[in-house]
Amino acid sequence: MEKNPSPLIAQYQPKKNGRKSQSKPKNLFDRFIDYKNDILRFMHDFKVPQCMCGLCPTYIECREETAFCLSTTGKSKCIKEEKGCLCPGCPVHEKMGFKYVYYCIRGNEKEQLAKK
Ligand code: SF4
Ligand code: SF4
Repeated sequence: MEKNPSPLIAQYQPKKNGRKSQSKPKNLFDRFIDYKNDILRFMHDFKVPQCMCGLCPTYIECREETAFCLSTTGKSKCIKEEKGCLCPGCPVHEKMGFKYVYYCIRGNEKEQLAKK
């Protein structure tokens, strides 16, 4: 009854102010559209580093190296909350044949493989 109130009851409920919040996938999708040029810049500018962590909704800038998927980098000391991961769309991920995500929190490819 709480999740599916009668229209009569709903009519007399106070209306909530503001926009309804969007889902995380929709936020990520919007971000892809907003940053499309930045995300795809590596395709035409070969000087651009290919790691996409800097554009990711989970990423927090705290002056540490990205490319968390590589065993030379390690987990982030600042990033703690998973809010979406751009790794599956990253050229490094594809080139290296990686399978995992959230390297900044869960550890690099080798560490995640060892946990399985
Ligand atoms: S796979 Fe993820 S962590 Fe690795 S370079 Fe790409 S965006 Fe960065
Ligand atoms: S590893 Fe994945 S989740 Fe972490 S910052 Fe990079 S793209 Fe985002």
